[in-house]
Amino acid sequence: MTCRICRNSENNTTYQAREMMFGLRTTFTYFQCAACKCLQIAEIPADIAPYNPQDYNGHVRPKNDYYSGVEGKFRKIRFLATLFT
Ligand SMILES: [Zn+2]
Repeated sequence: MTCRICRNSENNTTYQAREMMFGLRTTFTYFQCAACKCLQIAEIPADIAPYNPQDYNGHVRPKNDYYSGVEGKFRKIRFLATLFT
C-alpha cells in the first residue's frame, strides 16, 4: 500500500478495524505509513453513503434523539470509545 501523503510503500503497518459508530460492523483495512506516520484507510469504499447518513455530522451533535434513551446512551459510549482507541 502506498501512502497518499508521501508516496512511501515500504514497511507500512496494516490494521483491521470494524465500523462501530453506526453498528454496521463492516471490517476495513487501514495502514500506517512508516515514513510520515499517517494512518489511512487502504481502500475507500465505492459507496460511502451507509457510513455517512444524512442526519450525521461528525462535528455537530445530531439534532434528533440520536443520543437519548438507552440505545442513545450506548451510541454515545460507542462514539466516545472511537475517540480514545
Ligand atoms: Zn507517508
